[in-house]
Amino acid sequence: MKVLHSIEEVRQWRAEQDEIAFVPTMGNLHAGHLSLVETAKEHSSKVIVSIFVNPLQFGEGEDLESYPRTLTADIEKLTDAGVSALFLPTPEILYGSDAPFIVTPPAALIDDLCGKDRPGHFEGVATVVAKFFNIVEPTYACLGKKDYQQLKVIEAMVRALNFDITIIPVDIERSERGLALSSRNGYLSENEATQALILSQTLQMMKAQIIEAACNRMLTTAFYHNLEQEMSLLLQDQGFSVDYLTIRDQKILKIPTVEERKLVILVAANVGKTRLLDNLELSL
Ligand code: AMP
Repeated sequence: MKVLHSIEEVRQWRAEQDEIAFVPTMGNLHAGHLSLVETAKEHSSKVIVSIFVNPLQFGEGEDLESYPRTLTADIEKLTDAGVSALFLPTPEILYGSDAPFIVTPPAALIDDLCGKDRPGHFEGVATVVAKFFNIVEPTYACLGKKDYQQLKVIEAMVRALNFDITIIPVDIERSERGLALSSRNGYLSENEATQALILSQTLQMMKAQIIEAACNRMLTTAFYHNLEQEMSLLLQDQGFSVDYLTIRDQKILKIPTVEERKLVILVAANVGKTRLLDNLELSL
């Protein structure tokens, strides 16, 4: 695997390739990231991964400094996975000393859900991904459904800014007991990790109840609303601080009408000091 540090090195490597697939990450790689790599390999024999903890997407008081950095282990995993190249820029290389130009996604996509609690976060994500797309010029880019709103923002950006890139969404990789894998799971104590399992179980219960209501022709917007309220309270009773638990349409994450067939249930909740995300798609 080639380890590339500068933009020039990436451009030179890119010029020698035909089609390539790209997997952007912040490192501390786990099986979720590696499933993106596997999907990337299904689309192209040449896979490039980036590891960059992007300061622009972290807010004040968030975990930029303490975000886990495990480069030696990451390089070993990517080498074993058959990745062709790893791009490892520094903030100086990517942003230089000029004030950054910011890519601002439409408010409708970022004012709600994670964007509500993390002002500037999706601008930071969109900006760094746009830069990566311009530098790497991938044919395909693999993104996890784990960060569902992020995926929607990047898909919209690719359409709006005419990037000639195919986005490949990848299903959430989970632990055996159902916890969505995340670099931030490392912050959880043993007890918190057990408690965290309730999140995916709650999503499964909600999915079952929605499907049952649909079968019995009992679906109404009030049903969705009540289910969200009831399950949020249940999570609070189990010790979670819930940022949101909500049923949305899969396309642009708006509150669904009862006619909507493709739904996603999204949750963001804090266990102790750790903020966890999960979601579950369902088709009616
Ligand atoms: P991160 O390193 O957390 O920025 O994540 C890099 C990419 O990996 C993003 O596209 C994430 O959505 C994806 N990802 C993270 N965790 C998982 C997971 N458990 N399953 C699938 N994709 C994931």
